[in-house]
Amino acid sequence: MVEERLKFIEEEIRNLQESKLFINIRTIESPVDAWMVVDGKRVLNLCTNNYLGLANHPVLRQAAKDAIDRWGVGPAAVRSIAGTTSLHLELERRLAAFKGVEAALYVQSGFCANQAAIPVLVGKEDCIFSDRLNHASIIDGCRLSGAKILVYEHANPEDAERVIRENIGNYRRGLLVTDGVFSMDGDIAPLDKLYEVAARYGVLTMVDDAHGEGVLGRGGRGIVDHFGLHGKFDIEMGTLSKAFGVVGGVLAGKKLIIDYLRQRARPFLFSSAVTPPDTAACLAAVDLLESSTELVDKMWANASYFKGEMKRLGFDIGQSVTPITPVMLGEVAVAKEFSRRLFEEGVFAMALGFPTVPRGAARIRVMISAMLSRDDLDLSLAAFHKVGKELGVI
Ligand SMILES: *Cc1c(COP(=O)(O)O)cnc(C)c1O
Repeated sequence: MVEERLKFIEEEIRNLQESKLFINIRTIESPVDAWMVVDGKRVLNLCTNNYLGLANHPVLRQAAKDAIDRWGVGPAAVRSIAGTTSLHLELERRLAAFKGVEAALYVQSGFCANQAAIPVLVGKEDCIFSDRLNHASIIDGCRLSGAKILVYEHANPEDAERVIRENIGNYRRGLLVTDGVFSMDGDIAPLDKLYEVAARYGVLTMVDDAHGEGVLGRGGRGIVDHFGLHGKFDIEMGTLSKAFGVVGGVLAGKKLIIDYLRQRARPFLFSSAVTPPDTAACLAAVDLLESSTELVDKMWANASYFKGEMKRLGFDIGQSVTPITPVMLGEVAVAKEFSRRLFEEGVFAMALGFPTVPRGAARIRVMISAMLSRDDLDLSLAAFHKVGKELGVI
């Protein structure tokens, strides 16, 4: 019997179920790798953001184990209060060097990084210019700042310029913030043009490179490197939980800004640090990326093969220019059935529908990674071919 005051929750959950928006989360019973045990079945993984296969990489596993022996398992405090380990500082130095910026701040997650940075840069008297399709963590960071949020059309520098021109005079200062790679479509922000516009009006700039780090740029140095905009974008925010395979967020940029974030960013000041084993594993990931581009190259080769073959089979794979491959299916029901059938065929690829993507634009999002062998890719292509024919999609 649900108590009276909790009845609204019961009702909300029923609404979610009835409108098919209730999320049923599958259970993984193996490390995240090319093949995983999901809900008791061994399936090929086309779902995770483990672009380079680092989440279960032997070098990272070893680094984490060694760090436990040296440092223990927990940070036991907020870094600004009880001190910060040299391990965390070392990671920050290495990330800054990898990305070609003056300084970096390592925080608990990418989500946290957006909450940490945006409210420090702008407040009530300011405004934010935000891409229509920006990630939820950017939107929440913007809301938290109290600044006026002004949305411009997706990846559209002309519209960004219009919104800046019409509004900037009414505020103390402005911040332009955009995803680098948009994770639902795999397209990228025209960062060079956005920078020109922002620079013309003296607007601060920030890019969320969560899906670009370890993916775009030379050896995975990210979207700023991809566009050759070093020293221009004020803040690069990133995550160590996608291509880097571990966990944590990073804010990178000029030393002045990073030093200030250390004084003011609330998730840094009021929440404990990432654990030593995680931090050490991140360091090992940076080592790997700096020592060789092999994994990044393999991921791109896999993406190019898979996307070419999917097009040849007759699938609509949208506008992606990254390893994120949306397989456009239209109605949610079709996408869900497609995903269910793929799972039966031993391929784990999730269906995404409204409200994650617009109505009528439901899709299966395939995340191509360096983990996959040519045989794995051929097996998944065969499954897409079979199910696509069966459901009349191709
Ligand atoms: C995943 C993601 C984040 C959050 O990163 P976490 O490290 O998982 O918290 C932030 N922004 C974008 C664009 C993302 O895709």
